[in-house]
Amino acid sequence: MNTILKKDLEEIEEILEGAKTTALSYLDGLNEAAPNIGVSKMSKKAWNMESGLGAKKTLELFNSHYAPYISATAGPNFYGYVTGGSTPAALLGDWLTSAYDQVSSVTPITAQHESDTIALYRELFGLPSDFFGSFVTGGTTSNMVNLAGARQWVCQQMGQDGSKNGLNTRSGTLKVFSATPHSSTYKSLSILGIGRDNLELVNRLPDREAMDVTDLKKRLSAHPERPCIVVASAGTVNTGDFDDFIALGNLKKKYNFWLHIDGAFGGFAAVANDYKYLVKGWESADSIAIDAHKWLNVPYDAAFQFTKHPALQKQVFQNGNVPYLEGDGATQDFMNYVPENSRRWRSLPAWFTLLAYGKEGYAEIVGRNCLLAKELGNRIKNHGQLDLLHEVRLNIVCFATKIDSGIDTKSLLEKINASNKVFLTPTVYKDRFAIRVAVSNWRTGQKEIENLYRIISGAMQSLTK
Ligand SMILES: *Cc1c(COP(=O)(O)O)cnc(C)c1O
Repeated sequence: MNTILKKDLEEIEEILEGAKTTALSYLDGLNEAAPNIGVSKMSKKAWNMESGLGAKKTLELFNSHYAPYISATAGPNFYGYVTGGSTPAALLGDWLTSAYDQVSSVTPITAQHESDTIALYRELFGLPSDFFGSFVTGGTTSNMVNLAGARQWVCQQMGQDGSKNGLNTRSGTLKVFSATPHSSTYKSLSILGIGRDNLELVNRLPDREAMDVTDLKKRLSAHPERPCIVVASAGTVNTGDFDDFIALGNLKKKYNFWLHIDGAFGGFAAVANDYKYLVKGWESADSIAIDAHKWLNVPYDAAFQFTKHPALQKQVFQNGNVPYLEGDGATQDFMNYVPENSRRWRSLPAWFTLLAYGKEGYAEIVGRNCLLAKELGNRIKNHGQLDLLHEVRLNIVCFATKIDSGIDTKSLLEKINASNKVFLTPTVYKDRFAIRVAVSNWRTGQKEIENLYRIISGAMQSLTK
């Protein structure tokens, strides 16, 4: 064995202590640290990697060169995109995942654990047991895997096997309908060979991002013989809007379509009493995507993928016939249901955090985040120079400067983010440049939201002068 490697093995405890110290220095500063640090001023360095430095020296280099540029995106003041941080128990599970370094798919205990964990989350989300589930790397992958199942289903409806023969367009184009799809739906359609342009936008309800189901019905009636895919939203990114899953479930009884629900963050409405009405009827879906690295607050990268048609999904993801990769038959062969063959033990952090904080813990996080979003929304609505662009349904607040304020929204956003005390991201809503606040971190509380509002109104004031 290489002498440096040998020494590292002997010093493994000190090395792990070094990781702990480094992690703590980040975590202890999360509440105050800058949420967005650029790297443009970072010096270039030529690393000497000939003989190797050992882990401890390498950590020193990392700490002096890269660590100062790490943004507090996992902290309570980062409101961009939809992120979330890591709960203590989730972090514990994630560290152990790396230490155990299991090939999840091959080792029986990881498959058993993944099945057990999926069952717990099905219950948390109020989903019936006819949903099969697995862990994938994110909402995008979850949408993609579920839409791959949908594609296989459409082929099956037309008497074909897409996984064997490829997409057969003789029977017409595969149509996908959606009102407010996330960008990752288009990406998935591109990956799957369905094609971005084959997504047909359905009308929205007035002043909403939710689907006008009557318009969808009209579009489905135009080709009643053709099986198709409907992508519904449980939480749109701009306004946190939800489609009417009961109406969609009823439509499903008359028309032949696969219903996929993208609930990347909004699926967590199901865990809080005051918000679960938003997902009422979602159990009629064929597949559902829910992120774990957003509102569950586990480290990247993890998401749930639920489907009622695991056999079709397996036709797509079956890893050929490779005898040495056959499992023992007693546990679920997850690798034949998802893109990755070798997989990280993703269910471990998710299991730790749910067992540690329980349904009540998650109901509290989601409920608190939503109340804080509502409160911020009210304050923005009452600010004479700001427009709240929608009713705050969940945890998203989308706003802009009033047209007659004479201040453009882009300048406001730049001013707010220049504080480097909070971080917000831009969007375009109803053809208007707008600012989004997503509240999804377990640490974010009253104090943070008051501080955020102070920064927003202070920025407005300084731009008015
Ligand atoms: C974030 C998000 C996605 C994509 O999820 P990733 O985890 O970033 O891949 C898909 N849909 C919605 C609604 C999202 O908010």
